[in-house]
Amino acid sequence: MSLKKKIAEKTGMKNLPSHYQIIGHVFLAKLSRLDKMQKKVFAKAVMEILPYIKTVCEIKCIKGTFRKPKTSRILGGSMETVHKENGILYKLDVSKIMFSKGNMLERQRLVNQIRNGETIIDMFAGIGYFSLGIGKLSKAEKIYSIEKNPLSFKYLRENIKLNNIKNISPILGDCRKIKKIKADRILMGYFPGTEKFLKTAFSFLNNKGIIHYHNIYARNDLMKPIEDVDKAAKKAGYIIKSFKQRTVKSYNAAKDHIVLDVEISKINQI
Ligand code: SAM
Repeated sequence: MSLKKKIAEKTGMKNLPSHYQIIGHVFLAKLSRLDKMQKKVFAKAVMEILPYIKTVCEIKCIKGTFRKPKTSRILGGSMETVHKENGILYKLDVSKIMFSKGNMLERQRLVNQIRNGETIIDMFAGIGYFSLGIGKLSKAEKIYSIEKNPLSFKYLRENIKLNNIKNISPILGDCRKIKKIKADRILMGYFPGTEKFLKTAFSFLNNKGIIHYHNIYARNDLMKPIEDVDKAAKKAGYIIKSFKQRTVKSYNAAKDHIVLDVEISKINQI
């Protein structure tokens, strides 16, 4: 029986949310259709049905450069938790930092693409969403993980230790201001407006390599993502050799979160 049905049976409530996330011991759901009292009843039922849940929390939206969630605790204790996914431990405070379970397949898919001995730059590392899996499960030589938000950076450093990873160099700062590092593979795990960071991504790239470009695009505008990358590549003196496009998840009724894996070479290196 689905969790929604179990809660409905236990509480007699309707209007229950169909989507929810469990991050470590924290249960998060959009509860705007419930009043204050109903939210408490809902949270109590969740904690009775799922004994490992220690905190139930309402999530309203995720906003801004730091992708900060707007949350409020309904019942329970700490919002800091350790989430386990694919054998990797992610420590974070879910009231201050996002964690998208919708990106899980993408995190796994990326690890499988890494070639032995590669150097990687993760331009938007967060708490280590992509970097930790690559550091732990692939044979990458080195990963430079850049993060601008000091709080996410604190968790990134803790998570590197927690997972006993030795090949990640965390860098605190705006990726646009970081110089003197180069890589074979560039991760652009951020949106919206990722096209504004393509110039920086190309400045990080060796003579050839791969860029993983995430962004939000209108579902019916199939060519726009590769056109944006192609324009930036030409400006930087690179040429696209091949690319694959994938929808990571739906963003809203008309738009998708997409990722492009783009293989690139310097024009004079072909
Ligand atoms: N790709 C992630 C996943 O797998 O779920 C989610 C995106 S992550 C939240 C994006 C991160 O980029 C945030 O931690 C944010 O603070 C960081 N960020 C935003 N602008 C940045 C910049 N200019 N330089 C470095 N980090 C930045």
